[in-house]
Amino acid sequence: MTASPQRLAPEEPAAPEAAEATLPLIQVGWVLPTDIQDLALLDAYEEARARVHTLLADLFPQFHWEMPLVRRHRYPPHGPLDPLELLELGLQEKIHFHWDFSLVVTPNDLHPRQRISTLGVPSSALEVAVMSSALLGPTTEIPERLAGLALHMLGHLWGLGHDEQGPMLPPESPESLSCVPFTEAQQIGVLARLEEVADERLEEEQARWGWLSFHWRTFWTDPQGIWLDIWDYAPWRLPLRMGRMTAATAVSIFFLLLGAESWEVGTHLSTPVLVLGALVTMVGATAFVFAGQNLGQISREVGWREQLVRSRMVIFGTLLLGIVFLWLFLFVTTFLIAALFPDQTVSGWAGVSLGGFSLLRHAAFMATVGVLAGALGGNLEEEEEIKADLLYDEET
Ligand SMILES: [Zn+2]
Repeated sequence: MTASPQRLAPEEPAAPEAAEATLPLIQVGWVLPTDIQDLALLDAYEEARARVHTLLADLFPQFHWEMPLVRRHRYPPHGPLDPLELLELGLQEKIHFHWDFSLVVTPNDLHPRQRISTLGVPSSALEVAVMSSALLGPTTEIPERLAGLALHMLGHLWGLGHDEQGPMLPPESPESLSCVPFTEAQQIGVLARLEEVADERLEEEQARWGWLSFHWRTFWTDPQGIWLDIWDYAPWRLPLRMGRMTAATAVSIFFLLLGAESWEVGTHLSTPVLVLGALVTMVGATAFVFAGQNLGQISREVGWREQLVRSRMVIFGTLLLGIVFLWLFLFVTTFLIAALFPDQTVSGWAGVSLGGFSLLRHAAFMATVGVLAGALGGNLEEEEEIKADLLYDEET
């Protein structure tokens, strides 16, 4: 533990309570979703929470930190749990209590998707992280390691990437986790993010909003943060991760490339029609997958909440960008393949002699058709898989 710096200068005898009340509030809720009977383990969690609380209050005295802990007896304390379910639970609690962030802690193993095992899963779209103490070693070691893990998770929720130093060092093993402060560079990033968070939530500002005005205002309260969250998900990798969607796309394109009709249609469409068609298709395909996969339903809580609307915007934006990248990929690939086809054959198919510009138009048409087929294929994707792809920052 680091020594606590003085929060108030000695010549300022103001009561700390009064000073703290005027500071912007940041609430990080801890949720224990399992029916834990082991009192030593509960103490260890409590100790970890206290360490994180002290460290953050010392590092960022600009804010008044609150870290409430709630217990829910929802799962037995053994057997692996799905992080996705726990993320949704953490989100519900976060919205219910109006917290800014929530950390779900369980003694159970977490069911991994990509890795052999996972210590935790942060989701900056939801501003929730799930942590497991199953692999953190003996109970006496848990406070320090869990606190280190919590800081790593919070770092991801606050937009930090991995680093050589501080809590953002990727934990190679549970032994390497420790409760160390963020480096100065990391603190600057965290501070910028927290200042936005501490701003009044929209729904507290005005009780009645229209659907459009609420979404509009939510977006403009933090456009940069929303954009960064979307970018952090690396949406260009989405076509690769959504295997069934991409397979449906590839099959349709393959057959269309060998059909005379597609050449005839593609090369005869005007450029404005192709551009408009591509834009409408991309937005439509995103909405189709978003609705079909119930991606908007990330919490059972009804009513408008800024955090929830923001999460949906990040998910929708990630999916939309993923589909834009899929279109670009198809456009370039079909153009290159079509350029390899013998001129005479293709001109015969298209009914006109083809220049480079016709090939571009044909490629745009094919990419648009491919994205349409992909949207249908996207709904063949397992709902859980696609949600995990869009919501997980990583498996730590
Ligand atoms: Zn990490």
